[in-house]
Amino acid sequence: MAMEHRGVWVFIEQSDGVIEEVSLELLGAGRKLADKLEVPLAGVLLGYEVEALCTTVFEYGADEVYMIDHPVLKDYRTESYMKGVMQLSETYKPEIFLYGATPNGKDLASAVATDLNTGLTADTTMLDADVENRLLEASRPAFGGNIMATILCKNHRPQMATVRPKVMQALKPQPGRTGRLVKEDIELYEEDMRTKILQIVKETSKKAALQDAHIIVAGGKGMGDEKNFQLIHQLAEVLGGSVGGTRDVVEAGWLPHEQQVGQTGETVTPKLYFAIGISGAIQHVVGMKNSEMIIAINKDPNAPIFDVATYSIVGDAMEIVPMLIEGFRSALR
Ligand code: FAD
Repeated sequence: MAMEHRGVWVFIEQSDGVIEEVSLELLGAGRKLADKLEVPLAGVLLGYEVEALCTTVFEYGADEVYMIDHPVLKDYRTESYMKGVMQLSETYKPEIFLYGATPNGKDLASAVATDLNTGLTADTTMLDADVENRLLEASRPAFGGNIMATILCKNHRPQMATVRPKVMQALKPQPGRTGRLVKEDIELYEEDMRTKILQIVKETSKKAALQDAHIIVAGGKGMGDEKNFQLIHQLAEVLGGSVGGTRDVVEAGWLPHEQQVGQTGETVTPKLYFAIGISGAIQHVVGMKNSEMIIAINKDPNAPIFDVATYSIVGDAMEIVPMLIEGFRSALR
């Protein structure tokens, strides 16, 4: 079995001809796995009139692209995409197949894993390979985030995982880098499709703002109450950043869920992350620990948030945050 299935594949998710960031991140992670296992890295691209995107997939590290270009694949639907991915998997037999843990990626991966009768590790945050046994080591928080579990799929191929956006790092694209393009034909007919796309309504939410933000000012229960929490909004405004918070803050109704950072919220990687009045529970930390710079403010010198902080300020947020607001306001004027 191990020899029959070879290669690391990444599902390249695109909509309207734009590749999802997570797919590029997965090409970065997939490159490391493929190099370790000494096999090619392939991107799997489905859509309509998407051939131009292959250039990007090669530039971000793929050696091969398996492409199915078909009008029925113009917009994502489980049925048509699953048929395409199943045909490719059964024909070319990858040993590892990675998907972004986006709504469509999760939907597709679970459907494909079921039909291929293989295992799927959902919401992975770490990937590695056991070269000797040719096993994917897919790790994710388990038991409420208190431990990291490494999950293996020993007896079935491909080994599949969905991976959280913003956790892996995309490689720097190499302009001009190219590879082998395999164009696959498929028999798909619109009249056979059980779902029809009548309209696509795009939602613009604060969630997107949080994921794209270079600066995030996040507050926790240590802010005391909703009124004091306004200091977090004010600091974010002065810095031109977005506001985030812990689950406890969301549960208290101080912020909507889409602004929650952590295991059951968003994973973010801004250049600067302020963690103010946040204890640093593992479920929060998994969502922000890859930020480039973390400034933590907490009155407890032993707060776990200081373990991941670049700069630690021990003190009362009610005194420090107004000073920061004033200081930045005059400095940035
Ligand atoms: P607390 O833990 O109460 O911390 C408040 C901190 O503020 C303390 O460290 C305190 O010293 C400090 N403080 C108090 N007063 C001041 C002051 N005046 N100045 C400065 N510092 C002060 N949490 C998330 O955030 N995101 C998630 O996605 C998430 N998912 C979860 C999933 C599961 C399955 C479970 C079980 C839990 C999850 N949690 C999540 C909850 C998590 O375990 C913590 O309970 C939560 O992160 C704590 O929030 P907090 O830091 O705001 O509050």
